Amino acid sequence: MTWEIEIDPQLCMASGSCAAIAPDLFVLDGAHARPPHDRIEEDERALDAADVCPAMAITVRAAGKVLGPRP
Ligand code: SF4
Repeated sequence: MTWEIEIDPQLCMASGSCAAIAPDLFVLDGAHARPPHDRIEEDERALDAADVCPAMAITVRAAGKVLGPRP
C-alpha cells in the first residue's frame, strides 16, 4: 500500500533526525525538512522517523488513516 508523508513546517525545528534515519525519505531544505516524495511504498523507517521527531511534525498516513507517529 502507498503511504503519505506530511511534515508540518510550522512545527519542524530542523533537528535532522528524520533525515538521519531515512535520507531518501526526508531531506533538510533550509529551515525545515521535507519529503522528496509525498507518497512512498510502505517503509518502517518513515514510522521510525515520525516516532523520534522531537517536534511531532511528521505524519504518516495510509489511505487517510494515521499510522505514525505511533502511540
Ligand atoms: S525530525 Fe522532525 S523536527 Fe527534525 S528535521 Fe525531521 S521533521 Fe523536522
